[in-house]
Amino acid sequence: MSTSKSTNVHWHEGNLTREERWGSMGTRGGTLWFTGLSASGKSTIASALEQVLVQRGVPSYRLDGDNIRHGLNKNLGFSAEDRAENIRRIGEVAKLFADGGSVALTSFISPYRADRDQCRALHAEAGLPFIEVFVDAPIEVCEERDPKGLYKKARAGEIRGFTGIDDPYEAPTKPELVLKTGEHSLEQCVDACIEAIEKQLGVRVPAVTG
Ligand code: ADP
Repeated sequence: MSTSKSTNVHWHEGNLTREERWGSMGTRGGTLWFTGLSASGKSTIASALEQVLVQRGVPSYRLDGDNIRHGLNKNLGFSAEDRAENIRRIGEVAKLFADGGSVALTSFISPYRADRDQCRALHAEAGLPFIEVFVDAPIEVCEERDPKGLYKKARAGEIRGFTGIDDPYEAPTKPELVLKTGEHSLEQCVDACIEAIEKQLGVRVPAVTG
């Protein structure tokens, strides 16, 4: 699946280095990979963080699970194979955004460790920073929130293979950042991400002015 089907394709180097590109933008790129159960808070945090970053002049772009399944990944379902291909494509797209100088924010359940590790390796090979953010809320809390009514449907047997109910979630073993959304507010979670972006990506996030 991840092997190339095409032959006679050759990498064409551009005329710019990454440092020249980032230097002209005055920033640095990288990826924050949000992973966690459905309703743990990935999309809520990524959306709030994207807003704060862009308002403060830091290029950022959010890749959201459901949104990407409307377009790029509309031909994929939720089998283990399709989930793996879903994540592989997102890893590649996030890498392009990061290389382009944006802080890419991905919010996907991404339940399998091996798939996330593959995205991490992809970034490492390209010399790009990758921050795995474990959005860690107990399933009871997620099920209680259930903003899209999905747990209810899964419990009723209307959705099969739902992560945390009848499909596994493999928690990260060494995430760069853990956000306990059952204990900390959205603002606290966003602040923790900004701190990680400054320290681990080397991006300066200016304070709000005015
Ligand atoms: P996911 O993207 O992980 O499926 P969502 O962001 O769609 O989750 O939903 C998370 C729900 O939890 C939202 O209704 C959000 O308002 C709520 N919530 C409560 N506390 C927090 C928090 N600290 N961080 C993020 N979301 C929170």
